[in-house]
Amino acid sequence: MNRAAGPAIGVFGGTFDPVHFGHLRPALEAGEALALHQVRMLPSAQPPHRGRPSADAVHRLAMLERAVAGQSLLCADDCELRREGPSYMVDTLHHFRASHPESPLILIVGQDAANGLDTWHRWADLFDLAHLVVMGRPGPDADYGDALGRMIARRAARSAEELHHQPAGLTFSLPVSQLDISATSIRNQVRAGRSIAYLTPPAVADYIADHGLYADRPCA
Ligand code: ATP
Repeated sequence: MNRAAGPAIGVFGGTFDPVHFGHLRPALEAGEALALHQVRMLPSAQPPHRGRPSADAVHRLAMLERAVAGQSLLCADDCELRREGPSYMVDTLHHFRASHPESPLILIVGQDAANGLDTWHRWADLFDLAHLVVMGRPGPDADYGDALGRMIARRAARSAEELHHQPAGLTFSLPVSQLDISATSIRNQVRAGRSIAYLTPPAVADYIADHGLYADRPCA
């Protein structure tokens, strides 16, 4: 069976404000289920579709690094933080494509993010650069605009294995553990003075406490 040259790499972007188990467990499951070499988790500098993150990029990256320490499949990647301007995924994928010309690149998004994909900068170009894998998330069902829905349906892979046969261009829906956790709820818990234990790794909870993050900012 044909295989694209090079290891398959997952690209999982987000605000990670802060990272939590709802990011980490699905990312790990995606990495294992899709036989990825690595899932690179990229905090965005300036997310184009939302207000300024509550925590500075340096803190969001530091929390992510602590969260994935010792887990070889997941890795914190600061490439969007090193770029000026809005963090457009299409630019990020061009960056990965330049360093991995033949490898399958797998853009991993939760269902809520996938539903809004057609508002992303040059969204149709994403399919020339990577495969799209959508992970279920408690709450939103699949709800695509017409053009995006057609694009996703037309490119649907029959199996995860198929993603290894070409570098980009397919879509796949991946069931993952459904963890009803959001960064918004964590920020709100901190602000209310409640515990965030069991929502995010202890190293992240300790970092938030040590740096006084989220304590006195109004939350979105
Ligand atoms: P916020 O509450 O601040 O909006 P969030 O918890 O949704 O944040 P993001 O950093 O915005 O986290 O999400 C990054 C990516 O992770 C998105 O693709 C999103 O769909 C996905 N994601 C976030 N939480 C979950 C979850 N509980 N299960 C599956 N995917 C998730």
